[in-house]
Amino acid sequence: MGSNPVLTEVNLTSLPKLAEGKVRDLYSVDDHTLLFVTTDRISAYDVVMKNGVPDKGALLTQQSAHWFRILSEKVPGLKTHFLTTDVPAAVSAQEAQLIRTRSMQVRKLKVFPLEAIVRGYVTGSAWKEYAARGTVHGTPLPPGLRECDAVPGGPIYTPSTKAPLGQHDENISRERAAQIVGDKYAARIEDLALRVFAAGQAHALERGIIIADTKFEFALDEATDEVVLVDEVLTSDSSRMWPRDRYEPGRDQESFDKQFLRNWLTENGLKGKEGVEVPEDILRATSDRYKEVFRRLTGKTLEETLQG
Ligand code: ATP
Ligand code: MG
Repeated sequence: MGSNPVLTEVNLTSLPKLAEGKVRDLYSVDDHTLLFVTTDRISAYDVVMKNGVPDKGALLTQQSAHWFRILSEKVPGLKTHFLTTDVPAAVSAQEAQLIRTRSMQVRKLKVFPLEAIVRGYVTGSAWKEYAARGTVHGTPLPPGLRECDAVPGGPIYTPSTKAPLGQHDENISRERAAQIVGDKYAARIEDLALRVFAAGQAHALERGIIIADTKFEFALDEATDEVVLVDEVLTSDSSRMWPRDRYEPGRDQESFDKQFLRNWLTENGLKGKEGVEVPEDILRATSDRYKEVFRRLTGKTLEETLQG
């Protein structure tokens, strides 16, 4: 185990870096291609820890790649930005070795400035809103729902803005979403988001994972006028995933991957503090949880996937 060194900082010299997110770094390969490098950084309560989770970057990368393949099969007409998990030829051999398991090349497209959120369960901010007002995203739901109950009638689309760094995303109505991206694309984004979510949810449920909600991003392929699924997809960083065998409505479900870390931060009064150094055993336990989700979803261990 632990064949990959833990990496919280990658600075490739062979490609220009375009952006650095909380977890992923984005490089330009050529005019039409981007490289996502997923580090082992982990964030909790919106801040990034000092040290990383073993194999997290590889797990999230390979999980996203797996989903792009599965979803392309299961959702008729779906286009994605996924190209390959191969390292671009322009990267030096030494640097390629570092990022080999955590790289994804994608088509560079014009991202719609919307977070296409889909909620299948009444949890998190949706539960707060429902408990206070009986609505989710402004739409009334039947009375008597418990925390983490499935949304009656099936998953709902609840778009938000993509806030600039440091600001919080804002819920917006479907009408507002249509003003931002135009009626035609708004309808296509909503339809795709719901269909991709349904396909992903069904696939995961058969494998013992409930996908409670997620955030998708879509982009426009200007050459073909197609709406394309981009960014990471159905990872634990973009979704709430619950183990089916421990699901129990009427209470908050534990965040399967990050619960050890969150508990440790809370118990030690470190919730929300920048740059916290997390003990090895907590990181190891967290890594094991990411691996468990990966194995359930893909049916393979990370090692098997990387050899395959
Ligand atoms: P964080 O996710 O850490 O809150 P972030 O979203 O700014 O912050 P990343 O997710 O690491 O950081 O950055 C990925 C960026 O790349 C996002 O802005 C996303 O919209 C953009 N992106 C994703 N796929 C594509 C694509 N195919 N073409 C162009 N941009 C893309
Ligand atoms: Mg992001």
